[in-house]
Amino acid sequence: MLKKLFILLSVAFFVLAAIVFINTFKTKAWPSHKAMAMEGLPDSAIAHMSQAIQIATISPEDTTHIDSFHFNQFRTFLEKSYPLVHQHLTRTLIKNYSYIFEWKGTDSSLLPFILMGHYDVVPVEPSAVKLWTVQPFSGEVKNNIIWGRGSVDDKSNVISILEAAEGLLRKGFTPKRTILLCFGHNEESTGTGAIAIVKYLKEKNIKADLVLDEGGEITTDKIKGVKRPVAMIGVAEKGYVTFELSVEKTGGHSSKPDKETSIDILAKALYHLRNKKTPSSLQEPVKEFLHRASGSSADFVNKLAMSNLWLFEGTVKKILSYTPEGDAMQRTTIVPTILESGVRENVIPTNAKAIVNSRININESTKQVQKFIVNAIDDDRVKIKIVGDFNTEPSAVTPINSPAFKMMEETIYKTVDDAIPAPFIMLGATDSRVYREISNGVVNFSPLVDSKGFHGIDERLPIADFQRFFNFITIIIKESDKKL
Ligand SMILES: [Zn+2]
Repeated sequence: MLKKLFILLSVAFFVLAAIVFINTFKTKAWPSHKAMAMEGLPDSAIAHMSQAIQIATISPEDTTHIDSFHFNQFRTFLEKSYPLVHQHLTRTLIKNYSYIFEWKGTDSSLLPFILMGHYDVVPVEPSAVKLWTVQPFSGEVKNNIIWGRGSVDDKSNVISILEAAEGLLRKGFTPKRTILLCFGHNEESTGTGAIAIVKYLKEKNIKADLVLDEGGEITTDKIKGVKRPVAMIGVAEKGYVTFELSVEKTGGHSSKPDKETSIDILAKALYHLRNKKTPSSLQEPVKEFLHRASGSSADFVNKLAMSNLWLFEGTVKKILSYTPEGDAMQRTTIVPTILESGVRENVIPTNAKAIVNSRININESTKQVQKFIVNAIDDDRVKIKIVGDFNTEPSAVTPINSPAFKMMEETIYKTVDDAIPAPFIMLGATDSRVYREISNGVVNFSPLVDSKGFHGIDERLPIADFQRFFNFITIIIKESDKKL
């Protein structure tokens, strides 16, 4: 009897092992493509990018205090640098500083493409200026790199789009499909520019087949074992919600404290919350990402696990969870970001408050997150409420068989040698999330390779990246009438 069982188990094991190995070897490397020869940048492009950086369009935290001098200066710069765009496209000002440029196509049966970006930038902390290689707003060009705040985020996008449009107009090009260039002026703060742009487009009943925004880029070193460039195309955005947790318990003199104070109760609540993991779940874009990358992985164990998610999903999740990004890819994150309590060192406070920020996985909702927090804390003395005005549910997913995603794949093959285009879920929020109201084809991608310094020190744009970006946008506009 035992012998029979042993034989049966051995057979089962070998069958399982065979399936695992067959799956692994069947997972082929993603097809390789040779990029087209790239067109050179227009002569004035580098000077334009440098000038754009020199205009310090720092995002207004309070939109009533916009630095109108620099934002107006930027408008004059655009008018001077892109005369054909201003002559042939219709410009609409939204909230005074955001823009829509409409490039009318000849075939009105085709839905427009929207190429978007933002020209506001984050400030540079005064204490960090000395850590920069150049003055942050100098737009200096050295070692074939354009340096400065905004060179990546997001003037690389705005200027590449405008250079491509101006270049095509110079050649007498007219698109079949209408192309809209939409530039926000406060993405780094409230994003009200983008919201107003979408409201305007909605009122005009304009829908789009493609909305291209910043977000993903080309990574060459972040995925273990994969030596080929992986072009990460954002196809969905996690949701965003902020909660306030508060405790009220009469305080008093610090010389004779109660067994538990408001701070103690809140601290315990946060401890429990941080110790309880939200459910993990690999959503479709993440699975597709793993599938595409794994075929080219030189790391056999990685390849084996990722090719057999049906068996090793748990292991893969565990490996992913070793890095903050990998962990955030598979679950809702919840983290305290502000604590508030107390007025004097010798007074036990009556109130203690915490602000907790959550990024919601695309299969969950704000309601579920709130329920999770209440259960994790399990103490009804801690009151919970939603605060802030930036809260959004997770976005819909742009399917990988949509024209928008296919357009990305095709254009990436033409501009990046040997690239693997792969979908991913955006962990942060961008302006493009509001465009989902008018398009099922929102994608987040910039053809920059491992970009450096955005929101930090030494933000910089290699000229080779700028050239690729310019070519990438030029191809999208030129081929926008193509059936996909
Ligand atoms: Zn940005």
